[in-house]
Amino acid sequence: MSFLLRVGAATDQGLVRGNNQDAFGLAPDRHLFIVADGMGGHRGGEVAARMAVETIEESYAAAGADELVHAMLVANRRIYDRAHEDPELRGMGTTAVVAALAPVDTGVDTGEGQATAERMQLLIANVGDSRAYLYRDGELIQLTEDHSVVADLVRQGRISAEEAEQHPQRNVVTRVLGVYEDIDVDLWPVDPLDGDRYVLCSDGLFNEVEQDTIGAVLRRLEGPDEAAEELVRLANAGGGRDNVTVVVIDVAAIDAKGGAGGAAPSSVALGAAGHRSGIEPDLAGFSTAAPARAAGAPVAPGEPASRHARSSRARTRITWRVVAFVAVLVAVLGGAYLTVVWYGTSAYHVAFAGDDVAIFKGRPGGLLWIEPELVEVTPLSRDQVPARWLAAVEAGHEQPSLADSRRFVANVARDAGLDERGRPITTTTTRPTTTGPTATTEPTATTPVEGSPVAPGGQP
Ligand code: CA
Repeated sequence: MSFLLRVGAATDQGLVRGNNQDAFGLAPDRHLFIVADGMGGHRGGEVAARMAVETIEESYAAAGADELVHAMLVANRRIYDRAHEDPELRGMGTTAVVAALAPVDTGVDTGEGQATAERMQLLIANVGDSRAYLYRDGELIQLTEDHSVVADLVRQGRISAEEAEQHPQRNVVTRVLGVYEDIDVDLWPVDPLDGDRYVLCSDGLFNEVEQDTIGAVLRRLEGPDEAAEELVRLANAGGGRDNVTVVVIDVAAIDAKGGAGGAAPSSVALGAAGHRSGIEPDLAGFSTAAPARAAGAPVAPGEPASRHARSSRARTRITWRVVAFVAVLVAVLGGAYLTVVWYGTSAYHVAFAGDDVAIFKGRPGGLLWIEPELVEVTPLSRDQVPARWLAAVEAGHEQPSLADSRRFVANVARDAGLDERGRPITTTTTRPTTTGPTATTEPTATTPVEGSPVAPGGQP
């Protein structure tokens, strides 16, 4: 099965922000499409988003999942290094959501020796809260999971999806490119079908436009460029409080006439990528002997695939010696693994999540691959923490249990003259009422801080 892709894109700075820190990239010659949402300082967000797009485009040569993830890791490192070289760009970061049509090994024998059949998959990779959606059979499905404080809270059942939309922390992302030295990339492979429409977007779209409305636009407007432009227009009509970027990719299947087995890419002649909209290149895929949906990954979002996709399946003769060796190895590694997991997850700590004090499960800063998990955001904010506690909370103050963590937060609050809900403790002895400063629940401008979650689009 070969595929013809048509793509349209639009971006706008919105009605409130002073500049556009979103960026997108279209590299149709390599079937590669990117949306990035930068953050940090006046210039940092713009630089970070642009660097992400350029680096991913530069590093990815259309060879599949491993390479796509690698390209994002390269972008992460490059932005990280740049942010540490240039004080003006310190703390910058960016989300990235990427779609790439790439061949995958099906493991199906073509009957001609060692070669196995290849089929095309649409690989979606993301870091942060920019999303990929699939519109198929009249239904809009969110393919990616947001790496954000509110998404964590929704996943843990602590707040509803509706509450998340109004949550003061809704802009705080927990994973971005450029802020940490290393990063996990989520990968969501999809078997494309004829008529699929894929949408990549920054949060400026879905924070302003209901999911049903996005679906209705994709149902109504046939051209990917006009759909992208209409979605950007609706985001501005809905408030336009953030930069907004939309890329729409339409998939059409073409019957391969060459028959089975001839896995050669067709040549694609195209102009430069990065136009605002309306690129409708012929992006033929590879012909393949396998049916389009053979042994495919599920379309609906489930667990992200491993960041290191398997390459090829060598057929090995397995002897009992190998089995015994593997069993011992698994036992030893399994024991070590469980010990690390136990140690990595057996504690809690209190640290900043953006500008709020929060309780995390796990060791401060994480342990190997085990990242701390946000348990709850407390009503206490950074500016309410007394100076003598700041360094401890900044570094992550470890506690043996959740109850101990809450007690610690309550103590810090009391030290600041606040009750457990972050309100000033009023005295009822002599004066009847004290009109002290009330605790603010407004989200304060969050700048990315190393070792803590960060907020996109930090400018006021
Ligand atoms: Ca944004």
